Amino acid sequence: MNKIRTRFAPSPTGYLHVGGLRTALYNYLFAKKYNGNFLLRIEDTDQARMVKGADKQLLGILSLFKLKYDNKPVYQSKRLKVYKNFADQLVKAGKAYYCFCTPERLTKMREEQIANKKPPMYDGTCRDLMHEQVEQNLSSGKPYVIRLKVPLNKIINFTDLIRGEVSFNSETIDDQVLIKSDGYPTYHLANVVDDHEMGITHVIRGEEWLPSTPKHILLYEAFGWEKPAFAHLPLLLNQDRTKLSKRQGDVAVEDYLKNGYLPNALLNFIALLGWNPGEGSTKEIFSLDELVKEFDLTKINKAGAVFDIEKLNWLNGLYIRKLKVKELAKLCKPYLKQIKNSKMIEKIVTVEQERLKKLSDIAQNINFFSDKKIQYDPNLLVWKKSTRTATIENLVKLEDYLMTLKETDFKTVKNLEDKVTSWIKQNNYGVGDYLWPMRVALSGQQNSPSPFEIAWVLGKKITLKRINEAQNKLR
Ligand code: GLU
Repeated sequence: MNKIRTRFAPSPTGYLHVGGLRTALYNYLFAKKYNGNFLLRIEDTDQARMVKGADKQLLGILSLFKLKYDNKPVYQSKRLKVYKNFADQLVKAGKAYYCFCTPERLTKMREEQIANKKPPMYDGTCRDLMHEQVEQNLSSGKPYVIRLKVPLNKIINFTDLIRGEVSFNSETIDDQVLIKSDGYPTYHLANVVDDHEMGITHVIRGEEWLPSTPKHILLYEAFGWEKPAFAHLPLLLNQDRTKLSKRQGDVAVEDYLKNGYLPNALLNFIALLGWNPGEGSTKEIFSLDELVKEFDLTKINKAGAVFDIEKLNWLNGLYIRKLKVKELAKLCKPYLKQIKNSKMIEKIVTVEQERLKKLSDIAQNINFFSDKKIQYDPNLLVWKKSTRTATIENLVKLEDYLMTLKETDFKTVKNLEDKVTSWIKQNNYGVGDYLWPMRVALSGQQNSPSPFEIAWVLGKKITLKRINEAQNKLR
């Protein structure tokens, strides 16, 4: 068998869709599994959709996810002549033709077709123009496009590696434009020419491109080129099984990264959208190398894959918990701009690590981790059936006790917890009567980390100050 060569062929439109990342990943995995090549092609010929700098952003994302491509990326915008030459070749061979129909005529034609409940398609006006007519139009400088002469009444079959046998009737296929009036190629022409010239053996792409495939097959046949194998990946779906859309959540990889999903976790999650390691395996955590070993196109589902954000949160949480505190602190820093002290950040991260689903969560409910006064409703300090007066008394006793502790007693959460709980026990106090108001005095929140964790982060001085302030709030 020939060496396997796959490609990722994004259009640089300003962001990478999560489906695009999956396409890139599967192309990478398939190529690497068989010691083949994974190539990158930037499909930047649609001037209207181009966004400046988007290609650089794409390259950055691929490198962040360690999807290393072989060779230099191919930019279609640098190959306009190549496409034009190939289109001319098809015209000469009678497989494509010049079309001089004006946009106004085409719009009118389409409107009439729609009014008559017919599918809008080119009506073939220029398909069989006389040679002299064509020459005359060209020399008088009439604008034109080049269209593919789609054979009439032909069945186009191919075997998709995921979907199996697929067949289309050429009657449903428009005489596709190959070269636009501005001289730029369409997606179809450039895509087929490049896949051929880059020696692509397997075209792996999203299901939305399936209707384009018969057009591509006709082009391969018109050129007399060998066709690659095709594999169309299942759609990504929202929870309600509609097509994944921005309205129901983020679709841009950039947004997930911004919110603090770790690249490894995101990639792991994306790998499982439509692929699983096969029956009998319940493994869900995969590194990129493990994926290369286990991946195969035969294990991809035909059915759409639901993008389950809860599962992503769960996976990301697992990856976050595997990080060392120092690493996590570094990653969380951009979300904690208000906290300048890096020791403090490390402590906060230690306390929050267990609970984090994504890095940005660290910024939620952390206002109490500072030396500033905190605001809250004093009634929150009162535990269950206790009273304001009793709560004041308890907080006074607690303050007196904590005052007797040394600075070093605040060095670990465990030590602090041992000290305070044994003091409570020795005195036969109710645990909730002390630890509830202590926690609220330190956090001002209904829910928060434990009082010992917060006291450990804040240190002795601020802890005592907050407990004292709480008494004043109740008085
Ligand atoms: N440029 C197309 C895209 O943006 C490529 C589709 C294909 O892989 O053929 O997805």
